[in-house]
Amino acid sequence: MTVSQPATLTAAHLNGLRRSFAGEVVPPEAPGYDDARRVWNAMFDRRPALVVRPTNVDDVIAAVRFGRERDLEIAIRGGGHSGLGHSTTDGGLVIDLGLMNEVRVDPARRLARTGGGALLGQLDVAAQEHGLVCPVGVVGHTGVAGLTLGGGIGRLQRRFGLTIDSLRAVELVTADGHVVRASADEQPELFWGLRGAGANFGVATSLELELHPFSGTLHRGVHVHPASDIHELWAVFREFAAAAPDTVAAIFTVALAEPAADYPDTVAGRPIVVIAYNHSGAGEDAERDIAPLLRGPKPASVTPTSERYVDVQRSSDLSLAWGSRAFILGGNIADCSPSVLDAFVAHVEHVPGESSISVTTLGGAIGRVPDDAMAYSGRTSPFDVAPDTSWSDPALDDANAEWTRQAMAIVEPDLLPGRYINELSDAGPEVTRASYGDEKLQRLRELKRAWDPTNVFRLNHNIAP
Ligand SMILES: Cc1cc2nc3c(=O)[nH]c(=O)nc-3n(C[C@H](O)[C@H](O)[C@H](O)COP(=O)(O)OP(=O)(O)OC[C@H]3O[C@@H](n4cnc5c(N)ncnc54)[C@H](O)[C@@H]3O)c2cc1C
Repeated sequence: MTVSQPATLTAAHLNGLRRSFAGEVVPPEAPGYDDARRVWNAMFDRRPALVVRPTNVDDVIAAVRFGRERDLEIAIRGGGHSGLGHSTTDGGLVIDLGLMNEVRVDPARRLARTGGGALLGQLDVAAQEHGLVCPVGVVGHTGVAGLTLGGGIGRLQRRFGLTIDSLRAVELVTADGHVVRASADEQPELFWGLRGAGANFGVATSLELELHPFSGTLHRGVHVHPASDIHELWAVFREFAAAAPDTVAAIFTVALAEPAADYPDTVAGRPIVVIAYNHSGAGEDAERDIAPLLRGPKPASVTPTSERYVDVQRSSDLSLAWGSRAFILGGNIADCSPSVLDAFVAHVEHVPGESSISVTTLGGAIGRVPDDAMAYSGRTSPFDVAPDTSWSDPALDDANAEWTRQAMAIVEPDLLPGRYINELSDAGPEVTRASYGDEKLQRLRELKRAWDPTNVFRLNHNIAP
């Protein structure tokens, strides 16, 4: 298929589509077009030839066929959070699943069925009404589909596994406009690929996710330290992570203490290390389990709390609202050497935006699933490292991307195999290869040839057929 040029769709084209399409059709001249074409990351200010909002599976089929017949580049939008603007296109067709956002919970079977456009916040609330949870990401307005098809990392994964580990089935509209169900028993090879490279194979119109019993309380703490203690702090954190129970997830972040007014005088405006943890077990266990983290240097400030999970899950929804500009990279590491730690501190002294370098604990239930069980790769790594930055001035786009790439270069020699595609704002064949490794990439290419031989679905970390 050729890459589309900005297309002009005539009234006759649109009327033809409307005859087989019950949802919303939003061409550039429609009053809601500017709103309909927006995605979360303001760096991607694109002008599709058409945005459609299907309301059911037949609409999705009609939209895919319409896009193909007119040779339009097709972008699928779930929650719109792609770090690369993959859910929009200049001159192509956006299939925005935002109206297919239903979430149904079957408490007896501990299953949730979510529409292709459902958001994490909806799933969190619906599951918690029954004392259940699906481990997802940390911001309520991320799309369930986009997050899950890439992997899904958040506050409960060490206890319950990646989001894909809870995925039981996907209903998919394929490139040739048919509906297929993939699960462990139906199209198992496709189901293997959907769990980690899922945006490549079709439009997920619904997902079935296993739910887990969960009290709904998180015991949390944030310890802020001067970065001058970073070596001792890392030694404590690494040892803590190796022995922590699955109920604990923790993040070691190197940043600049800005705005200075938000921090104690001892660290304000200077590089800091922030150690944050979430404990999803019983309150009395939390105190015991977290104690080893406090063996290191005394923090400049500590804020322990116990909060409702659903409140924590939406606590960043405003600070990470739509309209940000953002860039993130990531990879897997086993450790941070003293020179890496020093380089992190030096690098955050000159940040172009709200920028930081985070090292997150993996392991637990994530690492107990064999790495070859799904397309997702890198399960055996103890840590994920991710520099990320956000800003608002378009003139700072290049500086922020460059800062993030330089931060990643610090750990490049130490990277373990496998990268998590949902945290990569850079893309291309080498990034895809590093994410899955040669063997899995070969298997994924065979799948792509079987399900999407002309690469209709290419706005993703693309598996070239
Ligand atoms: C503020 C913010 C917070 C985040 N937090 C986390 C986190 O805690 N944990 C984590 O693991 N990741 C996190 N991410 C990354 C996030 O998981 C990915 O960006 C993910 O791809 C977003 O999915 P989406 O549906 O919201 O995005 P979209 O931009 O709509 O889609 C992203 C990709 O998935 C495809 N896609 C979306 N829906 C469908 C569908 N129904 N069928 C087929 N393909 C589809 C799109 O075509 C595109 O390629 C975060 C991102 C942001 C911006």
